Amino acid sequence: MLKWLLVIAVVVGVYYFFIKKKPLKTSSKKAAKEQSSEMVACVVCDTYCSIGDAFIKERRYYCSKECMEAS
Ligand SMILES: [Zn+2]
Repeated sequence: MLKWLLVIAVVVGVYYFFIKKKPLKTSSKKAAKEQSSEMVACVVCDTYCSIGDAFIKERRYYCSKECMEAS
């Protein structure tokens, strides 16, 4: 009887380990993707680029290093 309880405990443990791990991984991946795909306008030339590629200086977004230095 104790042996069976141990087996069930291990199975449940492994089950929850994978179930808990999976959504966490996908949600963090999704959040990162959403953040990087958000579009922002360059304050110098109004070019839209993804926030992941944008240059940020003093809370302003720039499409390139050249625009950042030109401001
Ligand atoms: Zn620009």
